[in-house]
Amino acid sequence: MPTRSTDVVIIGAGAAGLMCAMTAAARGRQVLLIDHANKAGKKILMSGGGRCNFTNMYAEPANFASENPHFCKSALARYTPWDFIAMVDAHGVPYHEKKLGQLFCDNKAKDILNMLLEECERVGVDLRLNTAVQEIQKTESGYGLSTDIGEIAASSVVVATGGLSIPTMGATGFGYEIARQFGHEVLPTRAGLVPFIITDQLKDLCVALSGTSVAAVVRCNGESFRENILFTHRGLSGPAILQISSFWQLGDAVEIDLLPDRDVLEWLQGQQAARLDSELQTVLGEVFTKKMAALLADRWFVSQPMKRYTPAELREIAERLRAWRVVPAGTEGYRTAEVTLGGVDTREVSSQTMESRRSPGLYFIGEVLDVTGHLGGFNFQWAWASGHAAAQFV
Ligand SMILES: Cc1cc2nc3c(=O)[nH]c(=O)nc-3n(C[C@H](O)[C@H](O)[C@H](O)COP(=O)(O)OP(=O)(O)OC[C@H]3O[C@@H](n4cnc5c(N)ncnc54)[C@H](O)[C@@H]3O)c2cc1C
Repeated sequence: MPTRSTDVVIIGAGAAGLMCAMTAAARGRQVLLIDHANKAGKKILMSGGGRCNFTNMYAEPANFASENPHFCKSALARYTPWDFIAMVDAHGVPYHEKKLGQLFCDNKAKDILNMLLEECERVGVDLRLNTAVQEIQKTESGYGLSTDIGEIAASSVVVATGGLSIPTMGATGFGYEIARQFGHEVLPTRAGLVPFIITDQLKDLCVALSGTSVAAVVRCNGESFRENILFTHRGLSGPAILQISSFWQLGDAVEIDLLPDRDVLEWLQGQQAARLDSELQTVLGEVFTKKMAALLADRWFVSQPMKRYTPAELREIAERLRAWRVVPAGTEGYRTAEVTLGGVDTREVSSQTMESRRSPGLYFIGEVLDVTGHLGGFNFQWAWASGHAAAQFV
């Protein structure tokens, strides 16, 4: 097969790759966008429970974890949530704010993917699915790629292969391999935004309460999140748990405040004074579901009339509810994780252009980089912003 030439090859037709492709092609660059999967943007389709939380109105650098926290600032400032929202508006895609600045489609995540695909088509992006890359070599004029559709010569190559989460959706470590091939360091990766597995004596409680959701503040390693937690058959999940999982390391304890909106001791003392004969279980039933109150009263404390608790016992109960310590046995791993922490070290990548400092003409965008957003639309915003940044220079 003869070698075909193009200005830009983008590997990975996910969120970042699609944004980069449509923006670079709109600048007049000839763009070949390739993906080994049979469909573009599979993660967009499954995101946000099928409704795609496509950005967060309050996105700022503090919402991203990285060994190099300054790296994301420039791209995020140059392509903001409002830029993406303007495109969503222009395409007439209906959406709403669910909570905390999180914007979701009213209908289906497909609306976002279709919008990106339409934009790519409009500006002439050449999208090739079911196409694997076997090899990339540096050449005099740029890069040479061996692929399923033949040899390709390009002046720029953009790596947009994402992270390792959900391998069944096409995730691979290929981007990390390319990075290493061209002399980049890849920081250790692990699953983020992922449920915890509990195997110790708390497991029974989680199983018994499976499906119960409760508002909480969850803390670990100096980070804290105020959101719901969800008991599951395997342990703990829900937004607050997913958030803190990105800051948790094996062996760490997680502290959960189950009654974050009140001074628990003061409240219990007030209840004791007002309701001498009420059982603890009944009192807890006012702030938790009946089932949860019964289980906590039964398993953590001996439920008895409030008047029987000594001040020390009341303090103990308050402490347990305020700072419940859980040591997860692990996480559910890449199988269910929303993101991959770690990745291509950003200290060897330009924050202005996303270009490799090791190999000119090579770019990294999206989740393959060591930039990981909190839960709530931040990861897509990073994909859009980094893809847009690179597109100005490829
Ligand atoms: C279940 C789930 C729900 C999520 N929900 C949200 C949400 O609501 N909001 C949010 O902000 N974030 C969400 N995320 C995170 C978000 O999907 C990712 O952060 C984002 O998709 C990363 O974009 P990306 O383009 O870097 O990578 P991806 O979107 O993962 O795209 C990478 C692409 O590269 C392709 N690829 C991989 N290896 C190769 C190879 N060797 N050759 C060719 N192609 C390759 C893949 O097939 C894929 O198409 C969710 C993630 C998951 C798993």
